[in-house]
Amino acid sequence: MSSVTVRVSGKVNVQLAVGPPRPDGFHDLANVFLAVALHDRVTVTPAPRLTVSCAGPGAEQVPLDGDNLAARAATVLAAHHGRAPDVRLDIAKDIPVAGGMAGGSADAAAALVACDALWGTATPAAELAELAAGLGSDVPFALLGGAALGEGRGERLTPLPVGGTFHWVFALADGGLSTPEVYRECDRLRAAAADDVPAPRPDGALLAALRAGDAAALAARLDAANDLQPAALSLRPALADTLAAGRAAGALAGLVSGSGPTCAFLAADAPGAAALAARLSASGTCRTARAATAPAAGPTTIESHA
Ligand code: ATP
Repeated sequence: MSSVTVRVSGKVNVQLAVGPPRPDGFHDLANVFLAVALHDRVTVTPAPRLTVSCAGPGAEQVPLDGDNLAARAATVLAAHHGRAPDVRLDIAKDIPVAGGMAGGSADAAAALVACDALWGTATPAAELAELAAGLGSDVPFALLGGAALGEGRGERLTPLPVGGTFHWVFALADGGLSTPEVYRECDRLRAAAADDVPAPRPDGALLAALRAGDAAALAARLDAANDLQPAALSLRPALADTLAAGRAAGALAGLVSGSGPTCAFLAADAPGAAALAARLSASGTCRTARAATAPAAGPTTIESHA
């Protein structure tokens, strides 16, 4: 094989229930992942040594050295098979960088799948999933796509049935938010309020709405679905304007996506999402707004050259 290109989806957390900090610094989660059709593409080509390029919006914020999550993925897969990670990785970004949509994790999942095909290593799915979990909490879901409940720190996955297509609009912000900082702010706000933090539990009504493909029923569960939302709003108060603009523009519901700053809005159908995206883009409360359907597929090979 002379090159392989894999397309991979971003995600929105339709529920992100966060427990108290654990002794290891992580938090127990009830994390309902939904893959959405905003895609990065990762192309791998044999090369004398591991190199990375990245193009697209926000590419200047993506590290091109060994810290790049896709490069780390190539390195761990190569080590697993006792070979050198001798590839060039070209990342075409469309998932917002540091946007709470797990773009880096998506690139890591794509690199695992692309390198496995390029090298002909035919790694069993369970071994790929284990390597993915070692790379980061969101990487196992990026490898799976669709929808899933993540427990533990998000890496213990149960696939979830989804009964239809949901129409989302994503308001993309200028600049990112650091996920560890948002978790620290969440802990700080809870400590300051002396909140008793319950163990995180999946919301049965929300899972039923996903199963039924019922956008109105899902919207009814989204208002308080993201425990990181108050922390993201505290660090980036302008996000409250974005959420208000989306609701005023006719969204069924809106929430911060993961650790933010991307805001996600649910629409009733495709025309509703297109109209909402246009109004939000014109609102001046975000850099741009993009419509995208869900659930989207896991990593998909879209080109391979012998
Ligand atoms: P998550 O929702 O998984 O917490 P995020 O979507 O907010 O993460 P990412 O786009 O995954 O954020 O990137 C977070 C940071 O990771 C970036 O600021 C960047 O420094 C680093 N990073 C490493 N590899 C990548 C990559 N391939 N793409 C994007 N960012 C990367």
